[in-house]
Amino acid sequence: MTDLSALKQKFRMRDRVVHAMAAEGTVRAAVVVSTTCAQHAQQRHRLEPVGAVLLARALSAASMMASFLKGEERIIVEAKGDGFIRTVYAEALQIGEVRGFVEYASAADGCSSALGTGILQVRKILYNKAEPIVGIVELRAGNITTDLAHYFWQSEQIPTGVRLDVTLDDHQRIECAAGILVQALPGARREQLRYIYDFLQNIGTLCELVKAGYTAEEIARQTLPGDAEIFSSTPMDFFCRCSKERFKEMLLSIGEQELLEMRACGQNELVCQYCGERYYLDDSDFEELLSQLRAPKN
Ligand SMILES: [Zn+2]
Repeated sequence: MTDLSALKQKFRMRDRVVHAMAAEGTVRAAVVVSTTCAQHAQQRHRLEPVGAVLLARALSAASMMASFLKGEERIIVEAKGDGFIRTVYAEALQIGEVRGFVEYASAADGCSSALGTGILQVRKILYNKAEPIVGIVELRAGNITTDLAHYFWQSEQIPTGVRLDVTLDDHQRIECAAGILVQALPGARREQLRYIYDFLQNIGTLCELVKAGYTAEEIARQTLPGDAEIFSSTPMDFFCRCSKERFKEMLLSIGEQELLEMRACGQNELVCQYCGERYYLDDSDFEELLSQLRAPKN
């Protein structure tokens, strides 16, 4: 492969979320290829396969829903259950940042199903709203896909086709993650809905299409009836805005005594819950924090 074709291939394989609309504006779709984000999430949080797959689906879902928003508007998709997985949390910004995590029950609980019974909560943080818009439904299947389709029908009353496909390799690592969201908007015609239904029935798995080299944009054009207009095509990264400086600012609020204890016990590792990034405080960090705490307040 020449350098240029390798570069083109790399560009085509980059994680991407596409927002598209059918020509008449009555059907919209989002398509995501989120393999690298899902792989980073699994590695960062050191997830076993069940948690990695659920988080991959939630990250795909959040990023597709965020593609319908603007700029720094955000979507949080969070499933909470009583199974051996307690929480699956995914957060996405329209500009292509996603992050998320999985929380497990303590081993002693001995639950067998993954999420068990619980809820799916969707939060939208929008520019023109002071408070997040929150929708909550009960978990239907605990697989995120069915639960999300149920959420759209129950909470937003929008007929929505949802596909969230994830495959694992022989070592139980994420091999591919992709998703489609198709929504019938007011005025959608029966034959448009029929087309989408048939398409989703016959498409096979999304990961097969991705492996065959189809991009998110190509899949979006195939999904929608008639000529599709691509509204946005956004590269995506597993990305968190945490930093050591932000953690240090938070540590200022715990007080001098606790900080001295942390230092004495050698507790110098800070782990970001959202992205799994690890930060380490050295002596100079402790000194800096302590001197800030001891400085006279104005
Ligand atoms: Zn983080």
